[in-house]
Amino acid sequence: MTPTPCALCKRGQLAPGSATVTVSRGEGTVIIKGVPADVCDNCGEYYLAGDIAKRVYSVADAALLSGCEVEIRRFAA
Ligand SMILES: [Zn+2]
Repeated sequence: MTPTPCALCKRGQLAPGSATVTVSRGEGTVIIKGVPADVCDNCGEYYLAGDIAKRVYSVADAALLSGCEVEIRRFAA
């Protein structure tokens, strides 16, 4: 497997890890921990796979619909 260079800092390389993703919509913020992601070993930027991102946003949308201002969830693998 060829390491993927980071698109943000262009120096680091991506490795599988987990990220804490924050989604803000209007007044509401949802923090989702333990999201599987490729994480840059230099700057810490994370990259979500398409299907993971969809699930993150559906969890965030559900939490925001409940009217919370800040919600912390753990990503269910
Ligand atoms: Zn980077």
